[in-house]
Amino acid sequence: MCGIVGFVGDKNAVEPVLCGLRNLEYRGYDSAGVAFYDGSKIRNVKQAGRVAALENELVDLDIINTKTAIGHTRWATHGTPTKLNAHPHYNKDKTIFVVHNGIIENHQELRSMLEAKGYHFVSHTDTEVVPHLIDFYYQKTKDMEQAFTSAINDLSGAYAIVMMSEIEPNKILAAKLSSPLAIGVGKKNNMVGSDASAVADAAKKIVYLEDYEIAIVEKNKYKIRNLKNKKIVTRNPEDLLLEDVRSSKGSFEHFMLKEIHEAPKTIQNAILGRIKIETNEIKLGGLDSVANQLRNIDRIIIVSCGTSYIAGLVGEYLIEELAEVPVEVQLASEFKYRKEPYSPNTAILAISQSGETADTIAALKKIEPQGLLTLGIVNSPGSTISRMTKAGIYCHAGPEISVASTKAFTAQVTILVLLALSLGKNRSKLYKDLLVELASLPKTAEKILSLSPAIKEIAIRYSHHRDFMFIGRGYEYPVALEGSLKLKEISYIHAEAYAGGELKHGPLALIDENFPTLALASSPTLFDKTASNIQEIKARGGKTIVVTTKKQQKHFKTIADDLIIIPEVSDQLSPILEAIVVQLFSYFIAAEKGCDIDKPRNLAKSVTVE
Ligand code: GLU
Repeated sequence: MCGIVGFVGDKNAVEPVLCGLRNLEYRGYDSAGVAFYDGSKIRNVKQAGRVAALENELVDLDIINTKTAIGHTRWATHGTPTKLNAHPHYNKDKTIFVVHNGIIENHQELRSMLEAKGYHFVSHTDTEVVPHLIDFYYQKTKDMEQAFTSAINDLSGAYAIVMMSEIEPNKILAAKLSSPLAIGVGKKNNMVGSDASAVADAAKKIVYLEDYEIAIVEKNKYKIRNLKNKKIVTRNPEDLLLEDVRSSKGSFEHFMLKEIHEAPKTIQNAILGRIKIETNEIKLGGLDSVANQLRNIDRIIIVSCGTSYIAGLVGEYLIEELAEVPVEVQLASEFKYRKEPYSPNTAILAISQSGETADTIAALKKIEPQGLLTLGIVNSPGSTISRMTKAGIYCHAGPEISVASTKAFTAQVTILVLLALSLGKNRSKLYKDLLVELASLPKTAEKILSLSPAIKEIAIRYSHHRDFMFIGRGYEYPVALEGSLKLKEISYIHAEAYAGGELKHGPLALIDENFPTLALASSPTLFDKTASNIQEIKARGGKTIVVTTKKQQKHFKTIADDLIIIPEVSDQLSPILEAIVVQLFSYFIAAEKGCDIDKPRNLAKSVTVE
């Protein structure tokens, strides 16, 4: 949620901050703002809307000689997305400016305390308490680092906070708790930001801050202090890898389309070096350290949100069938408040694209005291979840910029196949066949992408509908959920997803000629059951688009309104391919409707608030 950037150095500071904001815009984009020191005072420019709108405001300003600047692109949690509520927020005499990512949970209490002491608030955000609180402590101590530390110690909730002040204009102070923040280390320039892409303009190396740490960053030095024991932390910066930095759209109209088209490469990267067909081996190096514990697990709880939750559902089918270990998938936001018993051999598997999903982090924190084995399937290297879990497997899908997740799902499910097979090696008769099939899956995924024109033509014809049903059975049921989620997210069309068998238990009542259904029916084992569902829909006047294989198409030819014929693969791998179909279908409908596909309204990438 939201992106923050700061720069302190010897060149125009606003430029790298704007560059960082552009790279971070996928995380939040309802308003944006910067504060910069012009040599005599701090100036502050904010704007509702995108970073581009902010850049327009800055065109006529002299920003060349600025050496320190901070910036923010917001995803509002408290207060509407207006210019007034945009960050940076400041104290009364506009000497202290703050940008914040997250939620200050005790803001009401702090606001009342500060108002009682004569502080006056101008915005409706939770964030505004922070500059006033720093001011309050600064008036007492006249020491900015001390004032910042005291203010941070008073906050509860989740935050990454970056501050600059007129009192020490060549310094940036930063702190974090449950929200990501990193220092980008450059030559004579240092930056802070929400991720690697935020600091890439001026930094060659990166140091990630941990919870309860503050950073004091100057042009040619920085220090990190632990707030609990007050000691200075030494942590070596890592090289800033190009693959961590935002890529470009290339010739694609949207990042989403580009990322869907990366599916073959994504599958390839997920299996690269992890399967060895000749020796029948799967090697998941990230799990080596917990190999003994893994042998004894008797239950797996998958915790995740959104698209990762749907990947988890595929994982449930896979691990139960191939490894014979009972699995339960829980929404992380529910898991953290549930009171349930765990056996000592329960493993918790967290799935998250960003590795910064606040609900999933909260779920992991909740079970920390139980000492259970925690595992992660995460895309972003070095992210909080990858550091919190005892062991894990990286997706290696590269940065995903589109808010609606596509290639991350592909990678997560591919890895869940590997995990299920490796956990159940001696138990599953399917082990060898699936391994061979998996190795050729990138090629099969290419064939799906070549169906784009046909999928587009169908999508355009259906794009005027206001409601959609997605159905599937077995491994195809989670794909129905993925299709309905994607369509909602990017086209704002109402979509439902049901297991085929559930239709007649209620949702069939919705079906008429204006409520089309996309049915996933390529499963070699369950296609005939889905065919019956399609008959039921047809009998109620509903239109159907059926995704099936060449072999099964005869069963649907006379009953479906439209067919999408895909290559046949085993049930267990079908979600990887069918997901590409429903992602493309949703994309083309949204494109036809002229929607802002990469940045859908009301949403943001990397949901770092609970
Ligand atoms: N809670 C803050 C606000 O609503 C920050 C939200 C964000 O992370 O963008 O302004």
